[in-house]
Amino acid sequence: MTDLLSLILILTMLNGVASALIWNAYRHLAGVRTIASSFMMGGCAAVLGLFYHPGPGFLNGMTGYVPNTLVFTSLGLCLNGVMIFLGERPRKWLLGFCLGFPLLYWPLSLYLWPDSGAPRSAINAFTTLIAFASVMPALWRARGDCAWLRWTLLPVLVLHVVIQGGWSIHRLDQWLSGTADPIMFYPWTVVETAVAHHLWFVCFLIMLGARLQSNVTQRNRELAHEVDTRRHLEQQLAATLAAERQIHAEHRQLLDVVVHEIRTPLAGIDRAAEMLQVLPGSVPEPARRRLGAIRDGVRRVTGLVERIMASEREGHMAAQPQPIEWMHSVQTVIQGLSHLNAGRVTVVAPDSPILFMADPGMLIAVLRNLIENALKYSPEGAPVTVAASEDTAHVVIRVTDQGIGIPEMERQSIGRRFYRASNANNHPGNGLGLFIVRRFLTEMGGTLSHSGGPNGVGTVATVVLPLRPAQWEDPDYGREKHHA
Ligand code: ATP
Ligand code: MG
Repeated sequence: MTDLLSLILILTMLNGVASALIWNAYRHLAGVRTIASSFMMGGCAAVLGLFYHPGPGFLNGMTGYVPNTLVFTSLGLCLNGVMIFLGERPRKWLLGFCLGFPLLYWPLSLYLWPDSGAPRSAINAFTTLIAFASVMPALWRARGDCAWLRWTLLPVLVLHVVIQGGWSIHRLDQWLSGTADPIMFYPWTVVETAVAHHLWFVCFLIMLGARLQSNVTQRNRELAHEVDTRRHLEQQLAATLAAERQIHAEHRQLLDVVVHEIRTPLAGIDRAAEMLQVLPGSVPEPARRRLGAIRDGVRRVTGLVERIMASEREGHMAAQPQPIEWMHSVQTVIQGLSHLNAGRVTVVAPDSPILFMADPGMLIAVLRNLIENALKYSPEGAPVTVAASEDTAHVVIRVTDQGIGIPEMERQSIGRRFYRASNANNHPGNGLGLFIVRRFLTEMGGTLSHSGGPNGVGTVATVVLPLRPAQWEDPDYGREKHHA
């Protein structure tokens, strides 16, 4: 019997160590920490049980006080853990009962009946009965991955209560009939309790396995669902891409038509201007100069259209930097806008010429759009100022008008393709000019911003351009872009 008890003690301690490992490995699963802690506490109770001196007398009896309290506390913990594991409401009162009740009754019964263990044994059995009874309905209801507990853990609990209850009734009977109870230690009850303890532990391991298995199955199901959803999204994406390609192709065709429609009259204008130029003596000198300006403008627009077409084909438009003299460029633009009453445009510049590197075609398009907007969105005769200044690295160009202004909330959106401010409905336009301006400025490393004019009237459009854009120092600049 001693060997058997020693074996049981060792097994209970090993069981505590295994529970500590399980606590650490599966603490993410609900209830596992509580159940594993209860088995660890059971191991401690077994070790402290070694110091129990069964026998008559108060002091002898008190050597079992701590192990007994630990056993019941671990029982309360374990049952609570099982409830959490099953997704049931935890029985918190049970924990207080399993800790508090043995703390009270053990010394009290020793005080009243120091020479008999029968009352303590009976109260122990009663405590166990209350604890088990509180969880049995939940175990009976257990469904899902733990449905089998109804046929395993539940009978083990019932058997344990029946054996321990029967045994304590027998002892009570002996005690009441006056039979002496000198030893007060009954090894078979310890063996039975230990067997029940280990059976619960086995149940715990199987519960854990079942839960992990069901988690894996659930995860697989979720993954399969996720794969389905992604496949569906992929198909939608492919369909959207196909539609996008189709739209792009149609857009290219439309662009080809538009370019053709622009190029043909431009070529006609150029030829007509050329013919007028060569007519000997019939064209006065100022008109001849004007014809020259018209041909320059036509050449510039044709060049720009061709480059835009090339950029559509290659996906990018590379700027072609050349040395620029600011005043020359702005004058060219103002001459080209004479149909818009550009006489009210004042150019302000420092005495010394401002020289910088930029793409002439793009710069002229930028200036033309900004000045055109300033003229278009301000009343007839209101002044427009175009000013430029430079510092060590930048040239700053400001176009100021006294027109309708841009509502503050909308300034951020200006320059998006087709975007027009809410107050611009009475003025013709497509919302494309500043979109092109932004694109050209990006190519030249510059920026555009809009703010309110002086005293809150009108608009100031500010362009900042680098004097020598860093990317143009790179000898591979143009080539890289063409092959991008
Ligand atoms: P278009 O494509 O013919 O140039 P648009 O002038 O409407 O048409 P953008 O030049 O891109 O298009 O300008 C976008 C919007 O920004 C304009 O519709 C207008 O609401 C606002 N805007 C731009 N410049 C000014 C300005 N100087 N004063 C007031 N509003 C302006
Ligand atoms: Mg415009």
